[in-house]
Amino acid sequence: MSIIVSCPTCRQPVCWSPAAPFRPFCSERCRLIDLGEWAAGSYAIPAEPASQDDGALPLPPARPETDA
Ligand SMILES: [Zn+2]
Repeated sequence: MSIIVSCPTCRQPVCWSPAAPFRPFCSERCRLIDLGEWAAGSYAIPAEPASQDDGALPLPPARPETDA
């Protein structure tokens, strides 16, 4: 059994195994690119990782105003 992840940089499928020393990146190049993005501060950090495919998040339920 092998786990396949997507390279955060180029989205290529990467087999999560000792054979892929740069996982989750497909290569050292992609890893360095990602680190560079982080260093440049241009990498938007989502509140939840791996949610690129999500649409709009559901809003929390409105709190009923029973206090009045
Ligand atoms: Zn890659």
